[in-house]
Amino acid sequence: MVDQSSLHEQALLHLDEAAQRLGLDEPAIAYLRIPEETMQVRLTIPMDDGSQRSFAGWRCRYDSTRGPTKGGVRFHPASNLDEVLTLAFWMTFKCALLALPYGGGKGAIRVDPDTMSRTELERLSRAFIKQLFHVVGPDRDIIAPDVNTNATVMGWMTDEYSRIAGHPSPAVATGKPLDQGGSLGREDATGRGGFYLLRRLEKQLGIGPGARVAVQGFGNVGLHMARLLHEAGYRIVAVSDSRGATGNAGGLDIPALIVHKSSSKDVASFAGGEKFDAAGLVAADCDILVPAALESTVHEGNAAAVRAGIIVELANGPLTAQADAILERKGVIILPDILANAGGVSVSWFEWEQNRANVSWPLERIHDQLRTRMEECGLAVFELARQHGISCRSAAYMLALKNIVKV
Ligand code: NAD
Repeated sequence: MVDQSSLHEQALLHLDEAAQRLGLDEPAIAYLRIPEETMQVRLTIPMDDGSQRSFAGWRCRYDSTRGPTKGGVRFHPASNLDEVLTLAFWMTFKCALLALPYGGGKGAIRVDPDTMSRTELERLSRAFIKQLFHVVGPDRDIIAPDVNTNATVMGWMTDEYSRIAGHPSPAVATGKPLDQGGSLGREDATGRGGFYLLRRLEKQLGIGPGARVAVQGFGNVGLHMARLLHEAGYRIVAVSDSRGATGNAGGLDIPALIVHKSSSKDVASFAGGEKFDAAGLVAADCDILVPAALESTVHEGNAAAVRAGIIVELANGPLTAQADAILERKGVIILPDILANAGGVSVSWFEWEQNRANVSWPLERIHDQLRTRMEECGLAVFELARQHGISCRSAAYMLALKNIVKV
Protein backbone atom coordinates (compact mmCIF):
# COMPACT_ATOMS: atom_id res chain seq x y z
CA MET A 1 0.00 0.00 0.00
CA VAL A 2 1.30 3.45 -0.87
CA ASP A 3 0.34 6.58 1.04
CA GLN A 4 -1.48 9.07 -1.17
CA SER A 5 0.22 12.42 -0.49
CA SER A 6 3.34 13.26 -2.49
CA LEU A 7 6.71 12.60 -0.89
CA HIS A 8 7.42 16.31 -0.90
CA GLU A 9 4.15 17.09 0.90
CA GLN A 10 4.99 14.46 3.52
CA ALA A 11 8.48 15.90 3.94
CA LEU A 12 7.11 19.43 4.47
CA LEU A 13 5.16 18.20 7.52
CA HIS A 14 8.50 17.96 9.35
CA LEU A 15 9.30 21.55 8.42
CA ASP A 16 5.91 22.67 9.77
CA GLU A 17 6.34 20.78 13.02
CA ALA A 18 9.88 22.03 13.61
CA ALA A 19 8.87 25.62 12.84
CA GLN A 20 5.98 25.39 15.28
CA ARG A 21 8.21 24.02 18.05
CA LEU A 22 10.76 26.77 17.42
CA GLY A 23 8.06 29.44 17.40
CA LEU A 24 8.80 30.45 13.79
CA ASP A 25 5.92 31.97 11.87
CA GLU A 26 5.03 31.13 8.27
CA PRO A 27 6.83 34.08 6.61
CA ALA A 28 10.10 32.93 8.23
CA ILE A 29 9.97 29.51 6.63
CA ALA A 30 7.68 29.90 3.60
CA TYR A 31 10.61 29.99 1.15
CA LEU A 32 11.62 26.49 2.22
CA ARG A 33 8.43 25.08 0.74
CA ILE A 34 9.70 25.77 -2.79
CA PRO A 35 12.98 24.48 -4.25
CA GLU A 36 15.39 27.22 -5.29
CA GLU A 37 16.18 25.79 -8.72
CA THR A 38 15.00 22.63 -10.45
CA MET A 39 16.02 21.51 -13.93
CA GLN A 40 14.53 18.76 -16.00
CA VAL A 41 16.63 17.70 -18.97
CA ARG A 42 16.40 15.31 -21.89
CA LEU A 43 19.45 13.16 -22.34
CA THR A 44 19.76 11.64 -25.80
CA ILE A 45 22.62 9.25 -26.37
CA PRO A 46 23.70 6.78 -29.05
CA MET A 47 23.20 3.18 -27.93
CA ASP A 48 25.69 0.43 -28.73
CA ASP A 49 23.47 -0.90 -31.53
CA GLY A 50 23.57 2.48 -33.33
CA SER A 51 20.06 3.57 -32.29
CA GLN A 52 19.35 6.73 -30.26
CA ARG A 53 17.55 6.76 -26.93
CA SER A 54 16.33 9.60 -24.74
CA PHE A 55 16.17 9.61 -20.96
CA ALA A 56 14.67 12.07 -18.46
CA GLY A 57 17.07 13.61 -15.95
CA TRP A 58 16.67 16.07 -13.11
CA ARG A 59 18.79 18.19 -10.81
CA CYS A 60 17.31 20.11 -7.91
CA ARG A 61 19.16 22.68 -5.82
CA TYR A 62 16.70 22.93 -2.97
CA ASP A 63 18.23 25.65 -0.83
CA SER A 64 21.65 27.28 -0.77
CA THR A 65 21.32 29.36 2.41
CA ARG A 66 24.22 27.50 4.03
CA GLY A 67 26.47 27.20 0.98
CA PRO A 68 26.72 25.39 -2.35
CA THR A 69 24.12 22.68 -2.72
CA LYS A 70 25.30 19.11 -2.25
CA GLY A 71 23.69 15.80 -3.05
CA GLY A 72 23.78 12.51 -4.90
CA VAL A 73 22.72 11.49 -8.37
CA ARG A 74 20.73 8.29 -8.68
CA PHE A 75 19.96 6.04 -11.62
CA HIS A 76 16.59 4.36 -11.22
CA PRO A 77 13.71 3.37 -13.52
CA ALA A 78 11.15 4.88 -11.12
CA SER A 79 12.91 8.21 -10.49
CA ASN A 80 10.68 11.26 -10.85
CA LEU A 81 10.58 14.96 -10.05
CA ASP A 82 8.74 14.57 -6.73
CA GLU A 83 11.37 12.11 -5.53
CA VAL A 84 14.27 14.30 -6.62
CA LEU A 85 13.08 17.45 -4.95
CA THR A 86 12.15 15.60 -1.77
CA LEU A 87 15.60 14.03 -1.62
CA ALA A 88 17.06 17.52 -2.12
CA PHE A 89 14.87 18.84 0.71
CA TRP A 90 16.14 16.07 3.02
CA MET A 91 19.73 16.89 2.01
CA THR A 92 19.13 20.52 2.97
CA PHE A 93 18.14 19.47 6.48
CA LYS A 94 20.86 16.83 6.75
CA CYS A 95 23.65 19.25 5.87
CA ALA A 96 22.19 21.81 8.28
CA LEU A 97 21.89 19.28 11.10
CA LEU A 98 25.55 18.33 10.71
CA ALA A 99 26.42 22.05 10.44
CA LEU A 100 28.12 21.47 7.08
CA PRO A 101 28.72 24.51 4.85
CA TYR A 102 26.26 23.19 2.28
CA GLY A 103 22.70 23.46 1.10
CA GLY A 104 20.82 20.45 -0.23
CA GLY A 105 20.64 19.14 -3.78
CA LYS A 106 19.82 15.94 -5.62
CA GLY A 107 19.76 14.55 -9.12
CA ALA A 108 18.47 11.51 -10.96
CA ILE A 109 18.21 9.87 -14.34
CA ARG A 110 15.20 7.66 -15.05
CA VAL A 111 16.98 4.56 -16.29
CA ASP A 112 17.33 0.91 -15.37
CA PRO A 113 21.12 0.54 -15.31
CA ASP A 114 20.81 -3.26 -15.49
CA THR A 115 19.61 -2.89 -19.09
CA MET A 116 22.56 -0.73 -20.17
CA SER A 117 26.13 -1.57 -21.15
CA ARG A 118 29.02 0.13 -19.40
CA THR A 119 29.74 2.33 -22.43
CA GLU A 120 26.07 3.38 -22.62
CA LEU A 121 26.12 4.29 -18.92
CA GLU A 122 29.26 6.33 -19.47
CA ARG A 123 27.65 8.25 -22.36
CA LEU A 124 24.57 8.87 -20.22
CA SER A 125 26.66 10.10 -17.28
CA ARG A 126 28.58 12.48 -19.54
CA ALA A 127 25.34 13.69 -21.18
CA PHE A 128 23.95 14.53 -17.74
CA ILE A 129 26.90 16.84 -17.04
CA LYS A 130 26.82 18.38 -20.53
CA GLN A 131 23.18 19.34 -20.05
CA LEU A 132 23.67 20.55 -16.49
CA PHE A 133 27.11 22.14 -16.77
CA HIS A 134 25.75 25.56 -15.82
CA VAL A 135 23.89 24.15 -12.78
CA VAL A 136 26.59 22.05 -11.09
CA GLY A 137 30.05 23.25 -10.06
CA PRO A 138 32.56 23.08 -7.18
CA ASP A 139 31.17 26.27 -5.60
CA ARG A 140 27.59 25.93 -6.79
CA ASP A 141 26.28 22.38 -6.70
CA ILE A 142 28.37 19.33 -5.85
CA ILE A 143 27.31 15.83 -6.90
CA ALA A 144 27.91 12.44 -5.23
CA PRO A 145 26.96 8.77 -5.66
CA ASP A 146 23.53 7.48 -4.65
CA VAL A 147 21.38 4.50 -5.61
CA ASN A 148 22.95 2.65 -8.58
CA THR A 149 25.77 5.16 -9.00
CA ASN A 150 29.30 4.76 -7.67
CA ALA A 151 32.88 6.02 -7.87
CA THR A 152 33.16 5.08 -11.55
CA VAL A 153 30.11 7.19 -12.46
CA MET A 154 31.47 10.10 -10.39
CA GLY A 155 34.79 9.70 -12.24
CA TRP A 156 33.05 10.00 -15.64
CA MET A 157 31.02 13.01 -14.50
CA THR A 158 34.05 14.79 -13.02
CA ASP A 159 36.06 14.14 -16.15
CA GLU A 160 33.27 15.55 -18.35
CA TYR A 161 32.88 18.64 -16.16
CA SER A 162 36.65 19.25 -16.17
CA ARG A 163 36.80 18.78 -19.95
CA ILE A 164 34.10 21.40 -20.56
CA ALA A 165 35.51 23.77 -17.92
CA GLY A 166 38.94 23.47 -19.50
CA HIS A 167 40.74 22.68 -16.25
CA PRO A 168 40.69 19.91 -13.63
CA SER A 169 37.73 20.41 -11.29
CA PRO A 170 37.72 17.46 -8.90
CA ALA A 171 35.67 19.34 -6.29
CA VAL A 172 32.56 19.23 -8.52
CA ALA A 173 31.92 15.68 -7.25
CA THR A 174 32.63 13.56 -4.22
CA GLY A 175 32.79 9.79 -3.98
CA LYS A 176 35.28 9.75 -6.88
CA PRO A 177 37.90 7.08 -7.56
CA LEU A 178 41.05 7.69 -5.49
CA ASP A 179 43.16 8.43 -8.59
CA GLN A 180 40.73 11.19 -9.60
CA GLY A 181 40.83 12.97 -6.25
CA GLY A 182 38.59 10.66 -4.24
CA SER A 183 38.98 10.40 -0.49
CA LEU A 184 39.97 7.44 1.59
CA GLY A 185 37.01 6.27 3.62
CA ARG A 186 34.24 7.60 1.34
CA GLU A 187 33.16 4.17 0.09
CA ASP A 188 31.84 2.93 3.44
CA ALA A 189 31.20 6.35 5.02
CA THR A 190 27.41 6.19 5.14
CA GLY A 191 27.26 2.72 6.71
CA ARG A 192 30.16 3.56 9.00
CA GLY A 193 28.52 6.79 10.13
CA GLY A 194 25.35 4.87 11.05
CA PHE A 195 27.50 2.32 12.85
CA TYR A 196 29.34 4.95 14.92
CA LEU A 197 26.02 6.56 15.81
CA LEU A 198 24.40 3.33 16.95
CA ARG A 199 27.41 2.30 19.00
CA ARG A 200 27.56 5.67 20.77
CA LEU A 201 23.89 5.42 21.70
CA GLU A 202 24.04 1.79 22.90
CA LYS A 203 23.52 2.74 26.55
CA GLN A 204 20.60 5.05 25.82
CA LEU A 205 18.99 2.47 23.52
CA GLY A 206 19.64 -0.49 25.82
CA ILE A 207 21.41 -2.54 23.18
CA GLY A 208 24.90 -3.85 22.44
CA PRO A 209 26.82 -6.65 20.75
CA GLY A 210 24.62 -9.73 20.45
CA ALA A 211 21.57 -7.65 19.47
CA ARG A 212 19.72 -8.97 16.41
CA VAL A 213 19.69 -6.81 13.29
CA ALA A 214 17.75 -6.99 10.00
CA VAL A 215 19.15 -5.01 7.08
CA GLN A 216 16.96 -4.07 4.10
CA GLY A 217 19.13 -3.42 1.04
CA PHE A 218 22.62 -4.83 0.57
CA GLY A 219 24.15 -2.13 -1.59
CA ASN A 220 26.79 0.41 -0.69
CA VAL A 221 25.09 1.52 2.52
CA GLY A 222 23.49 -1.66 3.86
CA LEU A 223 26.46 -3.90 3.12
CA HIS A 224 28.94 -1.82 5.09
CA MET A 225 26.56 -1.33 8.03
CA ALA A 226 26.02 -5.11 8.17
CA ARG A 227 29.76 -5.75 7.89
CA LEU A 228 30.74 -3.35 10.68
CA LEU A 229 27.97 -4.50 13.02
CA HIS A 230 28.91 -8.13 12.37
CA GLU A 231 32.56 -7.36 13.16
CA ALA A 232 31.43 -5.70 16.41
CA GLY A 233 29.53 -8.83 17.51
CA TYR A 234 25.98 -7.94 16.48
CA ARG A 235 23.92 -10.75 14.96
CA ILE A 236 22.69 -9.93 11.46
CA VAL A 237 19.66 -12.23 11.30
CA ALA A 238 18.17 -11.10 7.97
CA VAL A 239 19.30 -9.24 4.85
CA SER A 240 17.40 -8.39 1.69
CA ASP A 241 18.03 -6.87 -1.73
CA SER A 242 15.69 -6.10 -4.62
CA ARG A 243 15.58 -9.78 -5.62
CA GLY A 244 14.87 -11.48 -2.29
CA ALA A 245 15.99 -12.03 1.28
CA THR A 246 17.95 -14.44 3.41
CA GLY A 247 17.74 -15.10 7.13
CA ASN A 248 19.50 -17.04 9.87
CA ALA A 249 18.33 -16.74 13.49
CA GLY A 250 21.84 -17.57 14.70
CA GLY A 251 23.36 -14.76 12.62
CA LEU A 252 24.44 -14.67 8.98
CA ASP A 253 28.11 -15.03 8.09
CA ILE A 254 28.35 -11.52 6.60
CA PRO A 255 31.87 -11.79 5.07
CA ALA A 256 30.72 -14.96 3.25
CA LEU A 257 27.49 -13.23 2.18
CA ILE A 258 29.50 -10.32 0.74
CA VAL A 259 31.57 -12.75 -1.34
CA HIS A 260 28.40 -14.54 -2.44
CA LYS A 261 26.64 -11.30 -3.42
CA SER A 262 29.60 -10.11 -5.49
CA SER A 263 29.48 -13.20 -7.67
CA SER A 264 25.78 -14.17 -7.72
CA LYS A 265 24.33 -10.62 -7.52
CA ASP A 266 21.64 -11.68 -5.04
CA VAL A 267 21.46 -12.52 -1.33
CA ALA A 268 18.50 -14.95 -1.42
CA SER A 269 20.54 -17.80 -2.95
CA PHE A 270 23.12 -17.65 -0.11
CA ALA A 271 23.69 -21.16 1.23
CA GLY A 272 24.25 -19.90 4.79
CA GLY A 273 20.69 -18.66 5.21
CA GLU A 274 17.05 -19.44 4.56
CA LYS A 275 15.50 -17.73 1.56
CA PHE A 276 12.36 -15.62 2.03
CA ASP A 277 10.47 -12.90 0.23
CA ALA A 278 12.10 -9.43 0.34
CA ALA A 279 8.78 -7.88 1.39
CA GLY A 280 8.96 -9.90 4.63
CA LEU A 281 12.20 -8.26 5.80
CA VAL A 282 10.40 -5.40 7.54
CA ALA A 283 8.63 -7.90 9.82
CA ALA A 284 11.79 -9.90 10.66
CA ASP A 285 12.15 -11.00 14.29
CA CYS A 286 14.95 -8.66 15.38
CA ASP A 287 15.87 -5.88 17.81
CA ILE A 288 17.09 -3.36 15.22
CA LEU A 289 15.71 -2.77 11.74
CA VAL A 290 18.02 -1.00 9.29
CA PRO A 291 16.21 0.13 6.13
CA ALA A 292 19.00 0.81 3.63
CA ALA A 293 17.22 0.48 0.27
CA LEU A 294 14.75 3.05 -1.04
CA GLU A 295 12.17 5.51 0.27
CA SER A 296 8.70 4.47 1.53
CA THR A 297 9.55 0.79 2.02
CA VAL A 298 7.89 0.93 5.45
CA HIS A 299 4.34 2.18 4.97
CA GLU A 300 0.81 2.07 6.31
CA GLY A 301 0.43 -1.50 5.06
CA ASN A 302 3.40 -3.09 6.84
CA ALA A 303 4.40 -0.76 9.71
CA ALA A 304 2.26 -2.60 12.27
CA ALA A 305 4.18 -5.80 11.48
CA VAL A 306 7.55 -4.31 12.49
CA ARG A 307 8.93 -6.26 15.45
CA ALA A 308 12.13 -4.28 16.03
CA GLY A 309 12.21 -1.80 18.90
CA ILE A 310 14.78 0.40 17.13
CA ILE A 311 14.97 1.59 13.53
CA VAL A 312 18.13 3.10 12.07
CA GLU A 313 17.16 4.87 8.86
CA LEU A 314 20.15 4.54 6.56
CA ALA A 315 18.01 4.96 3.43
CA ASN A 316 16.53 8.37 2.75
CA GLY A 317 12.86 8.51 3.69
CA PRO A 318 12.29 4.78 4.23
CA LEU A 319 9.21 5.45 6.40
CA THR A 320 6.10 7.18 5.11
CA ALA A 321 4.48 9.72 7.42
CA GLN A 322 1.77 7.18 8.27
CA ALA A 323 4.31 4.47 9.08
CA ASP A 324 6.22 6.94 11.23
CA ALA A 325 3.07 7.69 13.24
CA ILE A 326 2.20 3.99 13.66
CA LEU A 327 5.71 3.14 14.83
CA GLU A 328 5.91 6.08 17.19
CA ARG A 329 2.64 4.97 18.80
CA LYS A 330 4.20 1.51 19.21
CA GLY A 331 7.11 3.12 21.06
CA VAL A 332 9.73 2.23 18.43
CA ILE A 333 12.80 4.46 18.67
CA ILE A 334 13.72 5.80 15.23
CA LEU A 335 17.11 7.27 14.44
CA PRO A 336 16.05 9.44 11.50
CA ASP A 337 17.66 9.50 8.07
CA ILE A 338 18.92 13.07 8.24
CA LEU A 339 21.01 11.98 11.23
CA ALA A 340 21.67 8.27 10.69
CA ASN A 341 22.89 8.42 7.08
CA ALA A 342 24.78 11.70 7.36
CA GLY A 343 28.14 9.90 7.38
CA GLY A 344 28.18 9.94 3.58
CA VAL A 345 27.86 13.67 3.18
CA SER A 346 30.24 14.25 6.09
CA VAL A 347 33.05 12.37 4.36
CA SER A 348 32.01 14.01 1.09
CA TRP A 349 32.71 17.30 2.79
CA PHE A 350 36.15 16.00 3.85
CA GLU A 351 36.79 14.99 0.23
CA TRP A 352 35.76 18.42 -1.07
CA GLU A 353 38.05 20.12 1.48
CA GLN A 354 40.95 17.87 0.45
CA ASN A 355 40.36 18.66 -3.25
CA ARG A 356 40.31 22.39 -2.63
CA ALA A 357 43.51 22.30 -0.59
CA ASN A 358 45.10 19.71 -2.92
CA VAL A 359 45.95 17.39 -0.02
CA SER A 360 45.08 13.83 1.05
CA TRP A 361 44.08 13.01 4.58
CA PRO A 362 45.01 9.66 6.12
CA LEU A 363 42.19 7.20 6.76
CA GLU A 364 42.54 7.48 10.54
CA ARG A 365 41.84 11.21 10.43
CA ILE A 366 38.73 10.61 8.34
CA HIS A 367 37.41 7.91 10.64
CA ASP A 368 38.14 10.00 13.75
CA GLN A 369 36.41 13.10 12.40
CA LEU A 370 33.47 11.08 11.12
CA ARG A 371 33.07 9.37 14.49
CA THR A 372 33.24 12.65 16.40
CA ARG A 373 30.63 14.33 14.18
CA MET A 374 28.18 11.42 14.26
CA GLU A 375 28.54 10.97 18.01
CA GLU A 376 28.19 14.64 18.89
CA CYS A 377 25.25 15.14 16.60
CA GLY A 378 23.58 11.92 17.75
CA LEU A 379 23.90 12.89 21.41
CA ALA A 380 22.56 16.39 20.73
CA VAL A 381 19.52 14.98 18.93
CA PHE A 382 18.91 12.36 21.61
CA GLU A 383 19.22 14.88 24.43
CA LEU A 384 16.87 17.41 22.81
CA ALA A 385 14.33 14.63 22.17
CA ARG A 386 14.55 13.58 25.83
CA GLN A 387 14.23 17.14 27.15
CA HIS A 388 11.11 17.87 25.09
CA GLY A 389 9.61 14.39 25.19
CA ILE A 390 9.60 14.28 21.38
CA SER A 391 10.88 11.86 18.74
CA CYS A 392 14.47 11.94 17.56
CA ARG A 393 13.13 12.93 14.13
CA SER A 394 11.36 15.99 15.54
CA ALA A 395 14.47 16.92 17.50
CA ALA A 396 16.71 16.51 14.46
CA TYR A 397 14.46 18.76 12.35
CA MET A 398 14.41 21.39 15.11
CA LEU A 399 18.21 21.47 15.29
CA ALA A 400 18.52 21.54 11.51
CA LEU A 401 15.97 24.29 10.98
CA LYS A 402 17.71 26.42 13.59
CA ASN A 403 20.86 26.13 11.48
CA ILE A 404 19.04 27.19 8.30
CA VAL A 405 16.95 30.12 9.45
CA LYS A 406 19.53 31.08 12.13
CA VAL A 407 17.26 31.48 15.17
P1 NAD B 1 22.80 0.96 -3.82
O1 NAD B 1 22.24 1.07 -5.18
O2 NAD B 1 24.25 0.71 -3.65
O3 NAD B 1 22.01 -0.19 -3.01
C1 NAD B 1 20.61 -0.23 -2.89
C2 NAD B 1 20.26 -1.64 -2.39
O4 NAD B 1 18.86 -1.70 -2.12
C3 NAD B 1 20.54 -2.74 -3.41
O5 NAD B 1 21.07 -3.85 -2.70
C4 NAD B 1 19.16 -3.08 -3.96
O6 NAD B 1 19.08 -4.40 -4.44
C5 NAD B 1 18.33 -2.88 -2.70
N1 NAD B 1 16.90 -2.74 -2.89
C6 NAD B 1 16.23 -1.98 -3.80
N2 NAD B 1 14.91 -2.14 -3.62
C7 NAD B 1 14.75 -2.99 -2.57
C8 NAD B 1 13.63 -3.54 -1.90
N3 NAD B 1 12.39 -3.22 -2.26
N4 NAD B 1 13.85 -4.39 -0.85
C9 NAD B 1 15.10 -4.68 -0.47
N5 NAD B 1 16.19 -4.20 -1.06
C10 NAD B 1 16.02 -3.36 -2.10
O7 NAD B 1 22.34 2.29 -3.07
P2 NAD B 1 22.97 2.92 -1.75
O8 NAD B 1 23.96 3.93 -2.15
O9 NAD B 1 23.34 1.83 -0.81
O10 NAD B 1 21.70 3.72 -1.19
C11 NAD B 1 20.72 3.10 -0.38
C12 NAD B 1 19.92 4.17 0.35
O11 NAD B 1 20.80 4.96 1.14
C13 NAD B 1 19.19 5.15 -0.56
O12 NAD B 1 18.00 5.58 0.09
C14 NAD B 1 20.15 6.31 -0.64
O13 NAD B 1 19.53 7.53 -1.00
C15 NAD B 1 20.65 6.33 0.78
N6 NAD B 1 21.93 7.03 0.99
C16 NAD B 1 23.03 6.66 0.29
C17 NAD B 1 24.23 7.32 0.54
C18 NAD B 1 25.51 6.91 -0.13
O14 NAD B 1 26.56 7.41 0.29
N7 NAD B 1 25.50 6.02 -1.10
C19 NAD B 1 24.28 8.35 1.48
C20 NAD B 1 23.13 8.68 2.19
C21 NAD B 1 21.96 8.00 1.93
